[in-house]
Amino acid sequence: DPRDDSFDFLFKIILIGDSNVGKTSLVQSFKSGLFSEAQQNTIGVDFTVRTLRIDGRRVKMQVWDTAGQERFRTITQSYYRSAHGAMIAYDISRRDTFDSTLRWLHELQRFGAANVLTALIGNKRDLEAERQVPFSDACKLAEEQGMLAALETSAREKRSVEEAFVMMARQLLQQN
Ligand code: GDP
Ligand code: MG
Repeated sequence: DPRDDSFDFLFKIILIGDSNVGKTSLVQSFKSGLFSEAQQNTIGVDFTVRTLRIDGRRVKMQVWDTAGQERFRTITQSYYRSAHGAMIAYDISRRDTFDSTLRWLHELQRFGAANVLTALIGNKRDLEAERQVPFSDACKLAEEQGMLAALETSAREKRSVEEAFVMMARQLLQQN
């Protein structure tokens, strides 16, 4: 029954990272499997829910998108609060967006829960020809900073997007 919205676990996941790296596209891809060329730059905060079934458990993922607030670097502190997991996204074809990830991590550490689970997401991996960030740099940073993992995705080609959310859900299940 599609109207049955019962669940065993509910996890709040937030997406952070520079503007234009594909955060909204990642959420859309996770939600519907659709990729839309022009993403909205609506100001505000919005969330999407999808319930995954993992090892017989219904895991409701409530995924929050900054919806444009990140452009002004004025993300409200409440956005970070009560997040179980955070995906820090950058664009593999823009080094500056990777260099920003530490600043986003610090913001998360400042305003988020002490035990928030973090994954480093290198999006736009379909732009291999324009790559400016070697995957090894991401792995190194993730390890140094105690993140769960570094992963590369393509919201456009729907590669590894589902995997990223499932990986996070599995880890959160283990911890809760
Ligand atoms: P946000 O500002 O971080 O939310 O980024 P958006 O989701 O709005 O995406 C910014 C731009 O990047 C849009 O033009 C998207 O179509 C494009 N984009 C998003 N994901 C990908 C991807 O995986 N590959 C490519 N080539 N473009 C993408
Ligand atoms: Mg957006």
